[in-house]
Amino acid sequence: MAAARERGYNSYRLFDTAHTRQPRRQASARLREALAAQEFELHYQPKVCLRSGRVVGTEALLRWRHPERGLLLPGEFMTIIEDAGLCVEVGKWVIENALAQADVWRRAGTDLAVSVNVSSRQLQDAQFIPHLTDVLKAFPQLPNGVLELEIVESAALHDIQRVGEIIEQCRQLGVSFALDDFGTGYSSLAYLKRLPARTLKIDQSFIVDLLRNSEDVAIVESIIGLTQAFRRQVVAEGVETRELGAMVLRLGCDVAQGYGIARPMRGELMPDWVRAYRPDPSWVSAGTAHRD
Ligand code: C2E
Ligand code: MG
Ligand code: MG
Ligand code: MG
Repeated sequence: MAAARERGYNSYRLFDTAHTRQPRRQASARLREALAAQEFELHYQPKVCLRSGRVVGTEALLRWRHPERGLLLPGEFMTIIEDAGLCVEVGKWVIENALAQADVWRRAGTDLAVSVNVSSRQLQDAQFIPHLTDVLKAFPQLPNGVLELEIVESAALHDIQRVGEIIEQCRQLGVSFALDDFGTGYSSLAYLKRLPARTLKIDQSFIVDLLRNSEDVAIVESIIGLTQAFRRQVVAEGVETRELGAMVLRLGCDVAQGYGIARPMRGELMPDWVRAYRPDPSWVSAGTAHRD
């Protein structure tokens, strides 16, 4: 979670007021309160097949609706959760709530898979698999494959043995894995053989300049080639415009996520969004040249 640490460098400013001598202890107590007071919520961002407009799933993204400071993003509080030792507790809350939301969608007639971000700290917890097993049992009507877990590539590399085992155990529960922020791990690619994740999510830093930067094009092309060779799925994150959507499609990536498709939204808005969604006409044609 080094990246979260960088992004959240100033997190303690949230708590570090003149009245607060011990911002860390204060923060940890405040976080527990926030959990109990239901101040956390999940927003969901759809993942779509650009060519067909089919919504292939959603990603759950954690938000903290702070009574005084408004809606906070993970970059503003994730390090505090880590430092407070609350990763496991918050992580359980996220999985339970994401599955509960998927069940609400299902009952409303919209079957949608949900992806949940997990930290390596969560996977180190001996109770991770037992807890996951229990939560899945609590929603017997949800189909196999409804849950995917996303782990940042660099975190997976830190503990490749353990993460590989967890991926295998999850597969037996019908839960698949994605390697998130893929391409930022700076590693030899041989490790992919040991991480049987179904999906690679190309980091948005390679997508954002794709129309101007030929090196990014080469990186994205090689990741897509790799996913084909390894029979994995590929998702482009950070597709902010229709032009970027057309570009990733031309490069052979069908599934995308980004502000150009939809921003993260509250769960109750998703069924209407899914019903109304139509892919951009330029995507439909950009994709026809390429079949995989
Ligand atoms: P991520 O999993 O890579 O999620 C994608 C992030 O990019 C989200 O930021 C999303 O809102 C944002 N995003 C989506 N489309 C676009 C786009 O087109 N352009 C740009 N610039 N950004 C886009 P968010 O929600 O602030 O989350 C940041 C990170 O925090 C996530 O990155 C994930 O690593 C972590 N995170 C979020 N929720 C959880 C959680 O429940 N548990 C854990 N452990 N980590 C979480
Ligand atoms: Mg993610
Ligand atoms: Mg990502
Ligand atoms: Mg990220």
